Amino acid sequence: MTTLFGAIADDFTGATDLAGLIARSGHPVNLRLGVPDRPPTDTAAFEIVALKCRTAPVEEAVADTVAALDWLKRAGASRFYWKYCSTFDSTAKGNIGPVAEALMQALGATQTVYCPAFPENGRSIFMGNLFVGEQLLSESPMKDHPLTPMRDANLMRLLSPQVAGKVGLANRLTVAAGVDALKARLATLKLDGVAHVVTDAVANDDLSVIAEACMDMPLMTGGSALAMPLPGLYEKAGLLSRASAHAARPEVDAGMIVLSGSCSAMTRKQVARYVEKAASFRLDPLALAEAGPGEALDWLSGQVLDRPKLIYATAEPDAVRKAQEALGVDRAGTVVEEALAALAREAFSRGVRRFVVAGGETSGAVVKALGIDRLAIGAEIAPGVPWTYGTCEGQTVALALKSGNFGDEDFFETAFRRLEEQ
Ligand code: ADP
Repeated sequence: MTTLFGAIADDFTGATDLAGLIARSGHPVNLRLGVPDRPPTDTAAFEIVALKCRTAPVEEAVADTVAALDWLKRAGASRFYWKYCSTFDSTAKGNIGPVAEALMQALGATQTVYCPAFPENGRSIFMGNLFVGEQLLSESPMKDHPLTPMRDANLMRLLSPQVAGKVGLANRLTVAAGVDALKARLATLKLDGVAHVVTDAVANDDLSVIAEACMDMPLMTGGSALAMPLPGLYEKAGLLSRASAHAARPEVDAGMIVLSGSCSAMTRKQVARYVEKAASFRLDPLALAEAGPGEALDWLSGQVLDRPKLIYATAEPDAVRKAQEALGVDRAGTVVEEALAALAREAFSRGVRRFVVAGGETSGAVVKALGIDRLAIGAEIAPGVPWTYGTCEGQTVALALKSGNFGDEDFFETAFRRLEEQ
């Protein structure tokens, strides 16, 4: 099938989140892990390239996304989407703005929108300020994120230093007035030379208005939720025939494990809850830096294949800070990611085929370690987290890749139960 929509996501869980929400429409969605080194084959109407560039150096992130764009263009895509986190995770230098600007240039686009809102998961934007539940982003637990601490909630202020072009706002009053009002506002901003428009949204209806007003832009940018109305809009516009496909549901052997490298507030609750039910092993970054993951590998070898088990580096902000002070932020992250990647490989070689992974960066590391380059999207476990299926050494593997704050407290248990229910 020729591709209509091509998206580039800045991390793996972001990509699965986007894929899951689009797959709700019933249209097949392909998720490519990294820019494929082969020309497009077996393409779907919706193609998503997952990168691992959220905290990469700006030039690298730009080069990777432009390469992904070229691949998606070759697949036939005519509408493009730059997907980042619903909490606008970025460093002071980027990469949300620089990548958007590079993609706009490559596509000849003079304006795009920025809308990370995900109302079902409590992310909303009002007057350009991003909220997590009832808290400003800068007062939410995101202020303590190990790699991208978010200390400001104002998206215009966050974006401006990241881009060369002018930044503006289409606020909630405009969005609430409907598609034509928003189109008029975007046109006015364009006349003023505003290339980057932060767009308020507090509910799914707002996202529908924004998606409809912007569906013909060469590039839209946002969280996953803004893309959710697009399949329906494309159908209405005659660009896509009605969906008939269903989510992928292959058989997968029973061996199971949870690997958690996320220190986000919700993951901390999920880990605390699961520790009560599963055999668990805690990874300490300092011990890993000194002695490697040997002890954890030994522990894993003593576990029963199809019993609940959890290996986690998840820790409270104080402990994370201590590890980062001792090792440096990058090294603290890397030793944990490398250990969880090695543990994933070991688990696979022992017969584990059902993996729940918590953490965006962590998921990227695990999927890479398993050598998986394409995932089919299955049933949704929680908003933004579907089961996905890939092939590792000829074996089908099920992966639930969960970004830090997604899912409720029982997520790990719910995920495995959902797989049984299919
Ligand atoms: P999230 O989706 O919650 O942002 P990520 O996996 O993307 O989770 O990011 C968490 C980062 O924190 C990873 O690089 C991980 O290796 C690192 N990390 C995990 N545990 C610790 C810890 N105890 N101390 C320091 N860094 C940690």
